[in-house]
Amino acid sequence: MKKIVFILSLLSTVFSFSQEKENYNVVASQFIDLYNAKDYNGIFDLFNLDMQNALPVEKTKAFLEDMQLQLGDIKTIQFSKLKQGEAHIYKTTFSLDELRDILFYLDQNDKIGGLYIAPHKSNDLPVLKRNTTKMILPFKEEWFVSWGGTTVEQNYHVAYENQQYAYDILMIKDGVSFKGDPKNNENYYVFGKDIIAPCDAKVVKVITGVIDNVPGELNPKQLTGNTIVLQTEDEEYLLFAHLKENSIVVKEGQMLKQGDVMGQCGNSGNTTEAHLHLSLQNAVDMNISTGGKIYFDHIMVNGEIKNDYLPVKEDFIKNIN
Ligand SMILES: [Zn+2]
Repeated sequence: MKKIVFILSLLSTVFSFSQEKENYNVVASQFIDLYNAKDYNGIFDLFNLDMQNALPVEKTKAFLEDMQLQLGDIKTIQFSKLKQGEAHIYKTTFSLDELRDILFYLDQNDKIGGLYIAPHKSNDLPVLKRNTTKMILPFKEEWFVSWGGTTVEQNYHVAYENQQYAYDILMIKDGVSFKGDPKNNENYYVFGKDIIAPCDAKVVKVITGVIDNVPGELNPKQLTGNTIVLQTEDEEYLLFAHLKENSIVVKEGQMLKQGDVMGQCGNSGNTTEAHLHLSLQNAVDMNISTGGKIYFDHIMVNGEIKNDYLPVKEDFIKNIN
């Protein structure tokens, strides 16, 4: 997804809850006026030196022209919240019916020192701390938790709110995940293993057509690779990423039963070797979600039966058949 730079503000503050600061309101209003007038030099003049160095005038222009092309003029903006106590985030509507969050940060001279545009993240999404739907593991064999748990030490995903508590899971034998040539996907124990539905659910999103990487190479442009998102009856969303090229056998809108095969584990997207990235979300779109904890109802963990269990790093986990 494209991250850009930008900001503005207009809006009447009558209904604002806001802790919006007046200096932000002023600069944001200037920004909107200049943007809608396509006065890109004027916007460049709002930047502080660091911003101007990071985004020289030609780049600023190219960026703004691109933004105009993709999003159109700014129609409305509304102060949304503060970030880290200072930067302001505005919910922004564009004339091409696009909604974005625009953040900006002002330095002590009220010059723009930071700016980005991102998909709008609603304050109104439901809170999803953990799953209430009972789930089995989404695979048939004994797999190994490479990253999982609720601390950054156990699980690097914890650092990212939209995928905090996500899992990276694969298979190992004798402490390693492959045998033979590590450059060959087929040599990874987990590559091509079936991914199954952990509960009854509806398929709400499918991404296909992403090729599997040569192990060790990344594909940051197609982060999640071949992907399935399921929605449960309780409005929980489960994201399955990095699936094998051409392996997905489900379609958007399809209703699944627990245990139905959906595709196979692969190495597509931003991944260095075959594994399953599994995340619980409170929205379909990973970019705007907050991640939730995933508990499995009744599974084998390191050879012992566990109920309502949240697997952690280095657990060996398997369904009880
Ligand atoms: Zn991951």
